[in-house]
Amino acid sequence: MERITMRQAKDYVGQTVQIGAWVTNKRSSGKIAFLQLRDGDCYFQGVVLKADVSEEVFTLCKNLQQESSVVVTGVIQEDTRSKLGYEMLVQSVELVGESHDYPITPKEHGTDFLMDHRHLWLRSKKQHAIMTVRNEIIRATYEFFNKEGFLKVDPPILTGSAPEGTTELFHTKYFDRDAFLSQSGQLYMEAGAMAFGKVFSFGPTFRAEKSKTRRHLIEFWMIEPEMAFMHQDESLEIQEQYVAFLVRNVLDNCDIALDILERDREVLEKYTQLPFPRISYDDAIELLNANGFDDITWGEDFGSPHETFIANHFDKPVFIMNYPKGIKPFYMPLAEGRDDVVVCADLIAPEGYGEIIGGSEREVDYAQLEENIKNFGLDTADLQWYLDLRKYGSVYHSGFGLGLERTVTWICGTEHIREAIPFPRLLNRIYP
Ligand code: ATP
Ligand code: MG
Repeated sequence: MERITMRQAKDYVGQTVQIGAWVTNKRSSGKIAFLQLRDGDCYFQGVVLKADVSEEVFTLCKNLQQESSVVVTGVIQEDTRSKLGYEMLVQSVELVGESHDYPITPKEHGTDFLMDHRHLWLRSKKQHAIMTVRNEIIRATYEFFNKEGFLKVDPPILTGSAPEGTTELFHTKYFDRDAFLSQSGQLYMEAGAMAFGKVFSFGPTFRAEKSKTRRHLIEFWMIEPEMAFMHQDESLEIQEQYVAFLVRNVLDNCDIALDILERDREVLEKYTQLPFPRISYDDAIELLNANGFDDITWGEDFGSPHETFIANHFDKPVFIMNYPKGIKPFYMPLAEGRDDVVVCADLIAPEGYGEIIGGSEREVDYAQLEENIKNFGLDTADLQWYLDLRKYGSVYHSGFGLGLERTVTWICGTEHIREAIPFPRLLNRIYP
């Protein structure tokens, strides 16, 4: 007999098969029991008729506890009432693992309780839906960059110096030397772009952020493309095509998950329409000041109410371009004809989700870059390898970083970033 998962059900209608599953719920009366089952991928119903099964099996079904694991054997049949479209008419049930007093019950639980039980919370429907969307975004990311001719390059996670300062870095011992966990692979990706043209990375990054917000994780995953022979305007086009591609693929491939998350598809459809609006930092400050935000002046970074206002104003993801040099890192070049703003852009998601991409063109002139490094109080010796890239065939190039969990949270329309990663690391949490 074939062991299948419910996803394959359409190819097995009328056939007897086996499925390994967990019991999420059950209901029974004298002659019939309904098992709500989860095979890890799909949620489905098993119908047990007392007349069809042994006395022993029917009694077992009536006594199954939440999250017991079973192997059910039965016939796949169509079920027009469920979204899945199929159910199983159960012939026999083998109990694999008992479960008693499963802590997460259908009643409401507090966030701390759920976070303490994250290893079990992952089994619930909403979490499954979010992880399905996350998986689709990961899959579509590889598809997008492969079709665009990018080579995946993996930057190191352990680094020997701290190019953007140590305040947000995790420190560790590296034998008898110091090392830090990577907060971005960008500088290495620039070396990658000079070697391979168009490259992207996809890996974990670590920031010892003391801020406790619903958008910040301590450990998160970032996609960092870097493109040689590319100016910022062309990079923005790649960024918007990439983001629209992610939303399109979630819409096309995550139907059940979007239902569970009750995400409005028409809202998501809007985010697949290009181009995304662009506004300069200068104009964004004016727009804010004209709309009653008198708590921000030119030169300051946006807070989340500012970002939320701007993105909602356009009702789409929006690029804010060319920030003051004082609030951006050392490697960004000055905009033409300006000595106060650099060529960069952040992509701000609407609905209050904040920045999902940070990107810029990169300084390519050796002398200028060296001066920037010194002006930022950094050590040129630590960055000699990075300066070298400007010595041997330096070309204009641009890149960006997209935060995976920010993007998942936004596309899912969920409240807090902690649910967008299987085991979130937060300011006060490293368990489980
Ligand atoms: P923010 O101002 O929101 O802290 P940032 O300017 O520090 O963001 P970048 O350094 O540009 O962000 O990082 C690139 C992307 O990585 C961001 O656009 C965001 O999507 C994501 N990101 C940054 N910090 C975090 C974090 N602590 N948790 C999750 N994602 C993050
Ligand atoms: Mg930050």
